Amino acid sequence: MDAAKIRLYVEHPLAEGQTVLLDRDQAHYLFGVMRLTAGAPVALFNGTDGEWQAEVTAAGKRGGELTCRSRSRDQLSPPDLWLLFAPIKKTRTDFIVEKAAEMGVARIQPVQTEFTNAERIRRDRLQAHAVEAAEQCGSTYIAEVAELQRLDRLLADWPADRQLMFCDEAFADASYGTPDGAPRSLEDAPKGEWAILIGPEGGFSEAERRRLHGLPFAWPVQLGHRILRADTAAVAALTLWQLKLGEW
Ligand code: SAH
Repeated sequence: MDAAKIRLYVEHPLAEGQTVLLDRDQAHYLFGVMRLTAGAPVALFNGTDGEWQAEVTAAGKRGGELTCRSRSRDQLSPPDLWLLFAPIKKTRTDFIVEKAAEMGVARIQPVQTEFTNAERIRRDRLQAHAVEAAEQCGSTYIAEVAELQRLDRLLADWPADRQLMFCDEAFADASYGTPDGAPRSLEDAPKGEWAILIGPEGGFSEAERRRLHGLPFAWPVQLGHRILRADTAAVAALTLWQLKLGEW
């Protein structure tokens, strides 16, 4: 069997000899669009059992079957990192979800801040983007896209031991102290459970910034001297976090 060129996420247990029945959409994609026939290789992953090389063992118009042959990658989960961001325009929001999934986050949490433009998000559509990104980038893990939540409520209910890298576009001219009055450096930050927070196009309100600067788990961060767009800031922040505190 040749190495598979197609990687597919399936919600199905994977093990040697395990058969996976395909639904109509999957069959349409594999046999209608990609023109695979019986015997063709497909790589499968389900978010928990690693990656498997499978073979098409039945191909039909409305369904089909794949059979797992051998495991090609161990299960590898990303760091326990959440990306909190305020949804912006559709294509830019899609970009943030795709890049976060590629760069390695456990959870993508859209948040509603005071100046957030979007009232609603299509969680299922964003989740599908995260799945597609995982299929394309060789990940064996699917980042979970959570429902939109208000930032103030999320902060009020913040889990103990999770640190927050707060990307503050106005940090340079901030006159706020950190909780103990001293500047905080990521160099001194503990590893482990983290979240990154990126604000909306309109930035954070003064009240939000004041609150965030006073939180014991918040680490305010400046990403250079220019104001980045939220999608750029998300990628820059993920890069910085991966280098300083993550797996790079
Ligand atoms: N309208 C705001 C900019 C918002 S940029 C203004 O003009 O001030 C969107 C988000 O990206 C910000 O809320 C912040 O989280 C992040 N961001 C952008 N540039 C940044 C920088 N230089 N440092 C830290 N965070 C930044």
